[in-house]
Amino acid sequence: MASAAAISSSISSRSLLSRDSKAALIASIRHPEPSIATPAASGGPRPRRMLARPCCAVEPTKRNDSVVPSAAVAGAANAAVGEEATAPSAAVDYEELNKALENASPLEIMDRALDMFGNEIAIAFSGAEDVALIEYAKLTGRPFRVFSLDTGRLNPETYRFFDAVEKHYDIHIEYTFPDAGEVQALVRSKGLFSFYEDGHQECCRVRKVRPLRRMLKGLRAWVTGQRKDQSPGTRANIPLVQVDPVFEGVDGLGSLIKWNPVADVEGKDIWNFLRTMNVPVNSLHSQGYVSIGCEPCTRPVLPGQHEREGRWWWEDATAKECGLHKGNLKQDEAGKLGANGNGVAAANGVDGTVDIFETQAIVNLSRPGIENLLKLEKRQEPWLVVLYAPWCRFCQGMEVSYMELAEKLVGSGIKVGKFRADGDQKPFAQKELQLGSFPTILFFPKNTSRPIKYPSEKRDVDSLLAFINALR
Ligand code: SF4
Repeated sequence: MASAAAISSSISSRSLLSRDSKAALIASIRHPEPSIATPAASGGPRPRRMLARPCCAVEPTKRNDSVVPSAAVAGAANAAVGEEATAPSAAVDYEELNKALENASPLEIMDRALDMFGNEIAIAFSGAEDVALIEYAKLTGRPFRVFSLDTGRLNPETYRFFDAVEKHYDIHIEYTFPDAGEVQALVRSKGLFSFYEDGHQECCRVRKVRPLRRMLKGLRAWVTGQRKDQSPGTRANIPLVQVDPVFEGVDGLGSLIKWNPVADVEGKDIWNFLRTMNVPVNSLHSQGYVSIGCEPCTRPVLPGQHEREGRWWWEDATAKECGLHKGNLKQDEAGKLGANGNGVAAANGVDGTVDIFETQAIVNLSRPGIENLLKLEKRQEPWLVVLYAPWCRFCQGMEVSYMELAEKLVGSGIKVGKFRADGDQKPFAQKELQLGSFPTILFFPKNTSRPIKYPSEKRDVDSLLAFINALR
Protein backbone atom coordinates (compact mmCIF):
# COMPACT_ATOMS: atom_id res chain seq x y z
CA MET A 1 0.00 0.00 0.00
CA ALA A 2 2.85 2.32 0.72
CA SER A 3 4.15 1.78 -2.79
CA ALA A 4 0.80 2.71 -4.26
CA ALA A 5 0.90 5.96 -2.39
CA ALA A 6 4.37 6.63 -3.67
CA ILE A 7 3.25 5.88 -7.21
CA SER A 8 0.28 8.12 -6.88
CA SER A 9 2.37 10.96 -5.72
CA SER A 10 4.99 10.41 -8.37
CA ILE A 11 2.32 10.50 -11.04
CA SER A 12 0.88 13.73 -9.96
CA SER A 13 4.29 15.24 -9.27
CA ARG A 14 2.45 17.33 -6.75
CA SER A 15 2.60 17.40 -3.04
CA LEU A 16 -0.37 16.53 -0.93
CA LEU A 17 -1.90 19.32 1.03
CA SER A 18 -1.71 19.01 4.73
CA ARG A 19 -4.88 17.82 6.35
CA ASP A 20 -5.51 21.14 7.99
CA SER A 21 -4.81 23.30 4.97
CA LYS A 22 -6.90 21.08 2.72
CA ALA A 23 -9.74 21.03 5.18
CA ALA A 24 -9.62 24.79 5.32
CA LEU A 25 -9.61 25.03 1.55
CA ILE A 26 -12.51 22.72 1.05
CA ALA A 27 -14.46 24.17 3.92
CA SER A 28 -14.07 27.61 2.43
CA ILE A 29 -15.78 26.69 -0.82
CA ARG A 30 -19.15 25.75 0.50
CA HIS A 31 -22.08 27.88 -0.43
CA PRO A 32 -25.32 27.72 1.44
CA GLU A 33 -27.67 28.42 -1.44
CA PRO A 34 -27.49 26.11 -4.44
CA SER A 35 -28.43 27.66 -7.70
CA ILE A 36 -27.81 27.06 -11.34
CA ALA A 37 -27.04 30.04 -13.49
CA THR A 38 -29.72 31.47 -15.66
CA PRO A 39 -28.79 32.78 -19.07
CA ALA A 40 -27.54 36.34 -19.09
CA ALA A 41 -29.67 38.86 -20.81
CA SER A 42 -26.88 39.93 -23.14
CA GLY A 43 -27.00 36.73 -25.09
CA GLY A 44 -23.21 36.68 -25.25
CA PRO A 45 -20.96 33.94 -23.95
CA ARG A 46 -21.95 33.90 -20.34
CA PRO A 47 -19.80 32.99 -17.46
CA ARG A 48 -21.51 30.09 -15.83
CA ARG A 49 -21.76 29.71 -12.11
CA MET A 50 -20.61 26.29 -11.20
CA LEU A 51 -22.95 25.53 -8.39
CA ALA A 52 -24.62 22.18 -8.21
CA ARG A 53 -25.68 19.67 -5.66
CA PRO A 54 -23.67 16.60 -4.98
CA CYS A 55 -25.48 13.39 -4.61
CA CYS A 56 -27.42 12.24 -1.94
CA ALA A 57 -29.89 9.74 -2.99
CA VAL A 58 -27.68 6.88 -1.99
CA GLU A 59 -26.11 5.77 1.18
CA PRO A 60 -22.70 7.29 1.77
CA THR A 61 -20.08 5.01 0.29
CA LYS A 62 -17.85 3.20 2.70
CA ARG A 63 -14.21 2.64 2.08
CA ASN A 64 -12.89 -0.78 2.86
CA ASP A 65 -9.97 -1.30 5.16
CA SER A 66 -7.35 -1.54 2.46
CA VAL A 67 -7.27 2.12 1.57
CA VAL A 68 -3.89 3.30 0.43
CA PRO A 69 -2.20 5.92 2.58
CA SER A 70 -2.60 8.76 0.10
CA ALA A 71 -6.29 8.02 -0.25
CA ALA A 72 -6.45 7.91 3.50
CA VAL A 73 -4.97 11.38 3.59
CA ALA A 74 -7.60 12.56 1.17
CA GLY A 75 -10.24 10.70 3.08
CA ALA A 76 -9.12 12.19 6.35
CA ALA A 77 -9.33 15.65 4.92
CA ASN A 78 -12.75 14.86 3.56
CA ALA A 79 -13.81 13.38 6.80
CA ALA A 80 -12.99 16.61 8.52
CA VAL A 81 -15.17 18.66 6.25
CA GLY A 82 -16.65 16.28 3.72
CA GLU A 83 -19.58 15.23 5.84
CA GLU A 84 -20.83 18.75 5.68
CA ALA A 85 -19.76 19.24 2.07
CA THR A 86 -21.66 16.17 0.95
CA ALA A 87 -24.72 16.58 3.10
CA PRO A 88 -27.93 16.34 1.07
CA SER A 89 -28.80 19.98 1.43
CA ALA A 90 -25.33 21.30 0.66
CA ALA A 91 -24.27 22.77 -2.64
CA VAL A 92 -20.76 23.06 -3.95
CA ASP A 93 -19.17 25.74 -6.04
CA TYR A 94 -17.29 23.60 -8.52
CA GLU A 95 -15.11 26.37 -9.84
CA GLU A 96 -13.79 26.82 -6.34
CA LEU A 97 -13.51 23.09 -5.79
CA ASN A 98 -11.51 22.86 -8.99
CA LYS A 99 -9.09 25.45 -7.63
CA ALA A 100 -8.92 23.68 -4.30
CA LEU A 101 -7.99 20.42 -6.00
CA GLU A 102 -5.15 21.98 -8.00
CA ASN A 103 -2.50 20.20 -5.98
CA ALA A 104 -4.40 17.01 -5.30
CA SER A 105 -3.26 13.72 -6.78
CA PRO A 106 -5.53 11.77 -9.16
CA LEU A 107 -6.14 9.31 -6.35
CA GLU A 108 -7.30 12.07 -4.02
CA ILE A 109 -9.54 13.49 -6.70
CA MET A 110 -11.05 10.10 -7.46
CA ASP A 111 -11.57 9.49 -3.77
CA ARG A 112 -13.28 12.83 -3.41
CA ALA A 113 -15.52 12.17 -6.41
CA LEU A 114 -16.60 8.73 -5.25
CA ASP A 115 -17.13 9.99 -1.74
CA MET A 116 -19.36 12.82 -2.91
CA PHE A 117 -21.47 10.90 -5.39
CA GLY A 118 -21.54 7.28 -4.28
CA ASN A 119 -23.60 5.12 -6.59
CA GLU A 120 -24.59 8.05 -8.78
CA ILE A 121 -21.21 8.53 -10.36
CA ALA A 122 -19.67 6.28 -12.99
CA ILE A 123 -16.30 6.06 -14.69
CA ALA A 124 -16.33 6.37 -18.47
CA PHE A 125 -13.98 3.73 -19.79
CA SER A 126 -12.95 3.91 -23.44
CA GLY A 127 -10.91 0.76 -23.58
CA ALA A 128 -7.55 2.55 -23.66
CA GLU A 129 -5.12 3.79 -21.03
CA ASP A 130 -7.96 5.29 -19.05
CA VAL A 131 -8.03 1.93 -17.31
CA ALA A 132 -5.88 3.96 -14.90
CA LEU A 133 -9.13 5.49 -13.64
CA ILE A 134 -10.41 2.06 -12.67
CA GLU A 135 -7.16 1.35 -10.88
CA TYR A 136 -7.44 4.61 -8.96
CA ALA A 137 -11.03 3.82 -8.07
CA LYS A 138 -9.99 0.41 -6.81
CA LEU A 139 -7.24 1.99 -4.73
CA THR A 140 -9.69 4.24 -2.96
CA GLY A 141 -11.36 1.13 -1.56
CA ARG A 142 -14.76 2.54 -2.36
CA PRO A 143 -17.42 0.89 -4.52
CA PHE A 144 -17.48 2.28 -8.03
CA ARG A 145 -19.28 1.90 -11.35
CA VAL A 146 -17.77 1.74 -14.83
CA PHE A 147 -19.54 2.21 -18.13
CA SER A 148 -18.39 2.06 -21.72
CA LEU A 149 -19.84 2.98 -25.08
CA ASP A 150 -19.90 0.04 -27.42
CA THR A 151 -20.22 1.79 -30.76
CA GLY A 152 -20.29 -1.47 -32.68
CA ARG A 153 -17.13 -0.36 -34.53
CA LEU A 154 -14.45 -1.12 -31.96
CA ASN A 155 -11.38 -3.25 -32.64
CA PRO A 156 -11.57 -6.91 -31.60
CA GLU A 157 -8.60 -6.20 -29.34
CA THR A 158 -10.66 -3.63 -27.46
CA TYR A 159 -13.48 -6.10 -26.80
CA ARG A 160 -10.93 -8.59 -25.47
CA PHE A 161 -9.47 -5.87 -23.31
CA PHE A 162 -12.90 -5.08 -21.85
CA ASP A 163 -13.23 -8.72 -20.90
CA ALA A 164 -9.74 -8.77 -19.33
CA VAL A 165 -10.55 -5.65 -17.31
CA GLU A 166 -13.82 -7.10 -16.04
CA LYS A 167 -12.03 -10.21 -14.90
CA HIS A 168 -9.04 -8.38 -13.42
CA TYR A 169 -11.18 -6.08 -11.29
CA ASP A 170 -14.09 -8.46 -10.84
CA ILE A 171 -16.49 -5.85 -12.16
CA HIS A 172 -19.27 -5.70 -14.73
CA ILE A 173 -18.83 -2.85 -17.15
CA GLU A 174 -22.15 -1.18 -17.96
CA TYR A 175 -22.05 -1.26 -21.76
CA THR A 176 -24.13 1.30 -23.55
CA PHE A 177 -25.21 0.78 -27.14
CA PRO A 178 -26.46 3.01 -29.96
CA ASP A 179 -30.10 2.94 -30.94
CA ALA A 180 -30.50 0.21 -33.58
CA GLY A 181 -32.97 2.26 -35.62
CA GLU A 182 -30.66 5.25 -35.77
CA VAL A 183 -27.68 3.16 -36.83
CA GLN A 184 -29.81 1.44 -39.44
CA ALA A 185 -31.04 4.74 -40.86
CA LEU A 186 -27.53 6.16 -41.03
CA VAL A 187 -25.95 3.12 -42.62
CA ARG A 188 -28.77 2.53 -45.08
CA SER A 189 -28.76 6.13 -46.25
CA LYS A 190 -25.04 6.89 -46.23
CA GLY A 191 -23.16 3.63 -46.04
CA LEU A 192 -20.74 2.24 -43.52
CA PHE A 193 -17.96 4.76 -43.99
CA SER A 194 -19.73 8.08 -44.50
CA PHE A 195 -17.44 9.72 -41.93
CA TYR A 196 -14.59 9.68 -44.44
CA GLU A 197 -16.76 11.72 -46.81
CA ASP A 198 -18.56 14.21 -44.61
CA GLY A 199 -16.83 14.09 -41.25
CA HIS A 200 -17.19 11.98 -38.15
CA GLN A 201 -19.72 14.12 -36.31
CA GLU A 202 -22.87 12.45 -37.57
CA CYS A 203 -21.71 8.90 -36.98
CA CYS A 204 -20.27 9.83 -33.58
CA ARG A 205 -23.55 11.48 -32.69
CA VAL A 206 -25.47 8.29 -33.41
CA ARG A 207 -23.00 5.77 -32.05
CA LYS A 208 -21.47 7.69 -29.16
CA VAL A 209 -23.07 10.95 -28.17
CA ARG A 210 -26.69 9.88 -27.94
CA PRO A 211 -25.94 6.65 -26.06
CA LEU A 212 -23.71 8.65 -23.73
CA ARG A 213 -26.46 11.17 -23.23
CA ARG A 214 -28.89 8.42 -22.26
CA MET A 215 -26.38 6.96 -19.83
CA LEU A 216 -25.56 10.29 -18.22
CA LYS A 217 -29.23 11.13 -17.73
CA GLY A 218 -29.22 8.49 -15.03
CA LEU A 219 -26.21 9.90 -13.18
CA ARG A 220 -25.23 12.90 -11.12
CA ALA A 221 -21.55 12.75 -12.01
CA TRP A 222 -19.10 11.02 -14.30
CA VAL A 223 -15.37 10.52 -14.44
CA THR A 224 -13.37 10.85 -17.63
CA GLY A 225 -9.78 10.13 -18.56
CA GLN A 226 -9.31 13.38 -20.46
CA ARG A 227 -5.84 14.86 -20.21
CA LYS A 228 -4.58 18.26 -21.23
CA ASP A 229 -1.70 16.78 -23.18
CA GLN A 230 -4.00 14.66 -25.35
CA SER A 231 -5.04 17.49 -27.63
CA PRO A 232 -3.49 20.92 -27.67
CA GLY A 233 -6.39 22.05 -29.84
CA THR A 234 -9.29 21.03 -27.65
CA ARG A 235 -8.14 19.80 -24.24
CA ALA A 236 -5.57 22.33 -23.10
CA ASN A 237 -7.87 23.88 -20.52
CA ILE A 238 -9.88 21.06 -19.09
CA PRO A 239 -10.51 21.44 -15.37
CA LEU A 240 -10.23 18.73 -12.74
CA VAL A 241 -13.90 19.08 -11.95
CA GLN A 242 -16.65 21.11 -13.53
CA VAL A 243 -20.36 21.33 -14.04
CA ASP A 244 -20.75 19.52 -17.33
CA PRO A 245 -21.34 22.20 -19.94
CA VAL A 246 -22.93 19.85 -22.45
CA PHE A 247 -24.69 16.88 -20.93
CA GLU A 248 -27.56 16.59 -18.51
CA GLY A 249 -27.69 14.58 -15.33
CA VAL A 250 -30.77 13.31 -13.53
CA ASP A 251 -31.82 16.84 -12.66
CA GLY A 252 -31.34 18.31 -16.12
CA LEU A 253 -28.80 20.64 -17.65
CA GLY A 254 -26.38 22.10 -15.14
CA SER A 255 -26.81 19.26 -12.68
CA LEU A 256 -24.18 16.85 -13.95
CA ILE A 257 -20.66 17.02 -12.57
CA LYS A 258 -17.73 15.98 -14.71
CA TRP A 259 -14.52 14.86 -13.02
CA ASN A 260 -11.23 14.72 -14.92
CA PRO A 261 -8.82 13.40 -12.28
CA VAL A 262 -5.91 12.90 -14.69
CA ALA A 263 -6.34 16.20 -16.52
CA ASP A 264 -2.91 17.39 -15.38
CA VAL A 265 -1.12 14.07 -15.70
CA GLU A 266 1.11 13.44 -18.68
CA GLY A 267 0.67 10.34 -20.82
CA LYS A 268 4.09 8.95 -19.91
CA ASP A 269 3.22 9.13 -16.22
CA ILE A 270 -0.03 7.28 -16.82
CA TRP A 271 1.97 4.56 -18.50
CA ASN A 272 4.47 4.37 -15.66
CA PHE A 273 1.54 3.93 -13.31
CA LEU A 274 -0.10 1.21 -15.41
CA ARG A 275 3.17 -0.71 -15.68
CA THR A 276 3.95 -0.42 -12.00
CA MET A 277 0.50 -1.55 -10.95
CA ASN A 278 0.56 -4.40 -13.46
CA VAL A 279 -2.75 -3.32 -14.91
CA PRO A 280 -4.10 -5.02 -18.07
CA VAL A 281 -3.72 -2.86 -21.18
CA ASN A 282 -5.16 -2.93 -24.67
CA SER A 283 -2.87 -4.99 -26.89
CA LEU A 284 -3.27 -2.37 -29.63
CA HIS A 285 -0.88 -0.17 -27.69
CA SER A 286 1.94 -2.56 -28.48
CA GLN A 287 1.13 -2.09 -32.18
CA GLY A 288 1.68 1.66 -32.09
CA TYR A 289 -1.82 2.79 -31.16
CA VAL A 290 -1.90 5.45 -28.47
CA SER A 291 -5.36 7.03 -28.42
CA ILE A 292 -7.84 4.27 -29.19
CA GLY A 293 -11.38 4.69 -30.47
CA CYS A 294 -13.33 2.98 -33.20
CA GLU A 295 -11.47 0.75 -35.64
CA PRO A 296 -12.11 2.77 -38.83
CA CYS A 297 -11.21 6.05 -37.15
CA THR A 298 -8.07 5.07 -35.26
CA ARG A 299 -4.63 4.26 -36.56
CA PRO A 300 -1.20 3.84 -35.06
CA VAL A 301 1.06 6.86 -34.80
CA LEU A 302 4.76 7.06 -35.41
CA PRO A 303 7.23 7.96 -32.67
CA GLY A 304 7.12 11.73 -32.26
CA GLN A 305 3.64 12.08 -33.73
CA HIS A 306 0.99 13.42 -31.42
CA GLU A 307 -1.44 10.75 -30.23
CA ARG A 308 -4.47 12.57 -31.60
CA GLU A 309 -2.94 12.34 -35.07
CA GLY A 310 -4.08 8.76 -34.95
CA ARG A 311 -7.75 9.78 -34.64
CA TRP A 312 -9.86 11.14 -37.51
CA TRP A 313 -6.60 11.92 -39.28
CA TRP A 314 -8.43 13.22 -42.34
CA GLU A 315 -9.92 16.13 -40.34
CA ASP A 316 -8.64 19.40 -38.90
CA ALA A 317 -6.99 19.03 -35.48
CA THR A 318 -9.22 21.57 -33.75
CA ALA A 319 -12.34 19.63 -34.74
CA LYS A 320 -11.20 16.38 -33.20
CA GLU A 321 -13.80 16.01 -30.52
CA CYS A 322 -16.45 13.40 -31.12
CA GLY A 323 -19.08 15.29 -29.16
CA LEU A 324 -18.38 13.48 -25.90
CA HIS A 325 -16.33 16.45 -24.73
CA LYS A 326 -17.64 19.15 -27.00
CA GLY A 327 -17.65 21.63 -24.14
CA ASN A 328 -13.87 21.71 -24.47
CA LEU A 329 -14.25 23.90 -27.53
CA LYS A 330 -13.96 27.45 -26.33
CA GLN A 331 -15.83 30.33 -27.79
CA ASP A 332 -12.83 31.81 -29.57
CA GLU A 333 -11.97 28.48 -31.10
CA ALA A 334 -15.54 27.93 -32.13
CA GLY A 335 -15.66 31.47 -33.38
CA LYS A 336 -12.64 30.95 -35.57
CA LEU A 337 -14.19 27.90 -37.06
CA GLY A 338 -17.71 29.07 -37.40
CA ALA A 339 -17.86 32.86 -37.29
CA ASN A 340 -19.28 34.74 -40.22
CA GLY A 341 -21.17 37.84 -41.06
CA ASN A 342 -24.65 36.60 -40.60
CA GLY A 343 -24.15 33.07 -39.48
CA VAL A 344 -25.77 31.51 -42.50
CA ALA A 345 -22.60 30.32 -44.15
CA ALA A 346 -21.45 28.45 -41.08
CA ALA A 347 -24.89 27.19 -40.36
CA ASN A 348 -25.05 25.88 -43.90
CA GLY A 349 -21.93 23.89 -43.27
CA VAL A 350 -19.63 25.85 -45.58
CA ASP A 351 -17.13 26.06 -42.75
CA GLY A 352 -19.48 24.58 -40.19
CA THR A 353 -17.13 22.21 -38.41
CA VAL A 354 -18.59 23.29 -35.10
CA ASP A 355 -22.07 24.21 -36.10
CA ILE A 356 -24.78 22.47 -34.14
CA PHE A 357 -28.28 21.09 -34.71
CA GLU A 358 -27.08 19.46 -37.90
CA THR A 359 -29.72 17.05 -39.06
CA GLN A 360 -31.94 16.91 -42.10
CA ALA A 361 -34.93 17.18 -39.82
CA ILE A 362 -34.00 20.78 -38.91
CA VAL A 363 -34.36 23.51 -41.52
CA ASN A 364 -31.52 26.01 -41.49
CA LEU A 365 -33.20 29.38 -41.84
CA SER A 366 -31.40 32.29 -43.45
CA ARG A 367 -32.29 35.89 -42.59
CA PRO A 368 -34.79 36.18 -45.48
CA GLY A 369 -36.22 32.81 -44.46
CA ILE A 370 -37.02 33.83 -40.92
CA GLU A 371 -38.23 37.25 -42.06
CA ASN A 372 -40.72 35.49 -44.33
CA LEU A 373 -41.82 33.33 -41.45
CA LEU A 374 -42.41 36.44 -39.39
CA LYS A 375 -44.50 38.07 -42.09
CA LEU A 376 -46.84 35.18 -42.78
CA GLU A 377 -50.27 35.69 -41.25
CA LYS A 378 -51.46 32.25 -42.17
CA ARG A 379 -48.86 29.55 -42.32
CA GLN A 380 -49.58 26.16 -43.78
CA GLU A 381 -47.90 24.57 -40.84
CA PRO A 382 -46.60 25.73 -37.48
CA TRP A 383 -42.86 26.11 -36.89
CA LEU A 384 -40.61 25.63 -33.94
CA VAL A 385 -37.37 27.60 -34.31
CA VAL A 386 -34.34 27.86 -32.07
CA LEU A 387 -32.33 31.08 -32.10
CA TYR A 388 -28.83 29.93 -31.30
CA ALA A 389 -25.11 30.53 -31.37
CA PRO A 390 -22.94 27.47 -31.94
CA TRP A 391 -20.42 28.56 -29.30
CA CYS A 392 -23.09 28.86 -26.62
CA ARG A 393 -22.81 26.09 -24.07
CA PHE A 394 -26.51 26.11 -23.35
CA CYS A 395 -27.22 25.70 -27.05
CA GLN A 396 -24.72 22.85 -27.21
CA GLY A 397 -26.41 21.39 -24.16
CA MET A 398 -29.78 21.17 -25.87
CA GLU A 399 -28.42 19.98 -29.19
CA VAL A 400 -29.23 16.32 -28.83
CA SER A 401 -32.70 16.83 -27.40
CA TYR A 402 -33.61 19.38 -30.06
CA MET A 403 -32.45 17.06 -32.81
CA GLU A 404 -34.34 14.17 -31.29
CA LEU A 405 -37.42 16.33 -31.12
CA ALA A 406 -37.02 17.38 -34.76
CA GLU A 407 -36.70 13.80 -35.84
CA LYS A 408 -39.78 12.85 -33.86
CA LEU A 409 -41.73 15.61 -35.54
CA VAL A 410 -40.87 14.60 -39.08
CA GLY A 411 -44.18 14.00 -40.86
CA SER A 412 -46.20 15.49 -38.00
CA GLY A 413 -47.05 18.70 -39.83
CA ILE A 414 -44.78 20.78 -37.59
CA LYS A 415 -41.59 22.17 -39.07
CA VAL A 416 -38.49 22.54 -36.95
CA GLY A 417 -35.87 25.14 -37.76
CA LYS A 418 -32.82 26.93 -36.47
CA PHE A 419 -31.58 30.47 -36.97
CA ARG A 420 -28.10 31.50 -36.02
CA ALA A 421 -28.71 34.77 -34.24
CA ASP A 422 -25.33 35.94 -33.01
CA GLY A 423 -22.99 38.41 -34.72
CA ASP A 424 -24.66 40.79 -37.11
CA GLN A 425 -28.01 39.10 -36.67
CA LYS A 426 -28.23 39.75 -32.97
CA PRO A 427 -29.79 43.25 -33.08
CA PHE A 428 -32.43 42.02 -35.53
CA ALA A 429 -33.13 38.94 -33.42
CA GLN A 430 -33.39 41.03 -30.26
CA LYS A 431 -35.77 43.51 -31.89
CA GLU A 432 -37.93 41.21 -33.98
CA LEU A 433 -37.57 37.76 -32.46
CA GLN A 434 -37.63 38.37 -28.72
CA LEU A 435 -34.03 37.19 -28.35
CA GLY A 436 -32.96 37.64 -24.76
CA SER A 437 -30.31 35.01 -24.34
CA PHE A 438 -29.18 31.93 -26.17
CA PRO A 439 -30.91 29.68 -26.86
CA THR A 440 -34.30 31.27 -27.44
CA ILE A 441 -36.99 28.92 -28.72
CA LEU A 442 -39.97 30.26 -30.63
CA PHE A 443 -43.18 28.65 -31.75
CA PHE A 444 -44.82 30.15 -34.82
CA PRO A 445 -48.46 29.01 -34.70
CA LYS A 446 -50.46 28.30 -37.82
CA ASN A 447 -52.78 31.26 -37.74
CA THR A 448 -50.92 34.17 -36.18
CA SER A 449 -47.76 35.91 -37.23
CA ARG A 450 -46.49 36.63 -33.74
CA PRO A 451 -44.21 33.88 -32.45
CA ILE A 452 -44.61 32.58 -28.91
CA LYS A 453 -41.47 32.34 -26.84
CA TYR A 454 -40.77 29.14 -24.93
CA PRO A 455 -40.68 30.30 -21.33
CA SER A 456 -38.80 27.49 -19.62
CA GLU A 457 -35.18 26.46 -19.28
CA LYS A 458 -36.21 22.79 -19.43
CA ARG A 459 -35.15 21.83 -22.90
CA ASP A 460 -35.65 18.09 -22.86
CA VAL A 461 -37.77 16.46 -25.54
CA ASP A 462 -40.83 15.91 -23.34
CA SER A 463 -40.96 19.50 -22.10
CA LEU A 464 -40.63 20.89 -25.60
CA LEU A 465 -43.29 18.51 -26.87
CA ALA A 466 -45.65 19.61 -24.11
CA PHE A 467 -45.11 23.22 -25.19
CA ILE A 468 -45.83 22.40 -28.81
CA ASN A 469 -48.89 20.29 -28.02
CA ALA A 470 -50.33 23.09 -25.94
CA LEU A 471 -50.09 25.52 -28.85
CA ARG A 472 -50.52 23.58 -32.06
FE1 SF4 B 1 -18.35 6.45 -36.10
FE2 SF4 B 1 -15.70 6.76 -36.26
FE3 SF4 B 1 -17.16 8.16 -34.47
FE4 SF4 B 1 -16.76 5.54 -34.17
S1 SF4 B 1 -15.21 7.18 -34.08
S2 SF4 B 1 -18.68 6.60 -33.88
S3 SF4 B 1 -16.86 4.83 -36.32
S4 SF4 B 1 -17.22 8.31 -36.73
